[in-house]
Amino acid sequence: MTVLVDRQTKKGPWVDQLKGRTLIEWVEDRTPGDSRLEMCIQCGTCGGSCPSGQDMDHTPRQLFAMLRAELEEEVLNSNTPWFCVSCYLCTVRCPQEVKITDIMYTIKTLAVADPRTHANTARDFSETFIGYVDRFGRSFEFGLASRHALSHMPNSVQGVMELGLGLLTQRRMDLTPTKIKNLPQLSKILHRAKELEAEL
Ligand code: SF4
Ligand code: SF4
Repeated sequence: MTVLVDRQTKKGPWVDQLKGRTLIEWVEDRTPGDSRLEMCIQCGTCGGSCPSGQDMDHTPRQLFAMLRAELEEEVLNSNTPWFCVSCYLCTVRCPQEVKITDIMYTIKTLAVADPRTHANTARDFSETFIGYVDRFGRSFEFGLASRHALSHMPNSVQGVMELGLGLLTQRRMDLTPTKIKNLPQLSKILHRAKELEAEL
């Protein structure tokens, strides 16, 4: 598998690509097609259309303003791209045809590869989810919720456990993960997708 960046050495193709370039240039290059990010007129239509807006640290409009201001660390640590549910409503409503949803994916790619985001809880949650999909072909809700609560929400562990126990006794959730039938086939698809992403 092609690795974007080694987390320990902080070396890899991604780091080389970023050298001497601003974050906004990198995002524009890395987003498939023309991102049209520079065309944003800060009208706010995207944020007003977004069903996840209430949970986001920044609206898409704010995130793009931060990108222009080269606030790299703030952009990479924002939970906004991780709360994007890829509904594309903002993209179809944007008067400037900015590829907002695709840019969210680009920022996530960058955030995953950047060691400065190690404390980003939204990224960690997403990576835990992907880890279960890699290993079992599906999510494992009990493990996902308990691990996230223990790592990031210690004060709410008791409440999460009570909720989990209720779901377990109602047989709405499994105590152990189960693999899908044809995991090797899914693994091949995921492996190829990662290779294609690294080639972009
Ligand atoms: S809707 Fe488009 S132009 Fe308006 S703030 Fe959002 S990205 Fe910028
Ligand atoms: S695609 Fe993402 S950012 Fe755009 S409206 Fe939907 S959830 Fe919000």
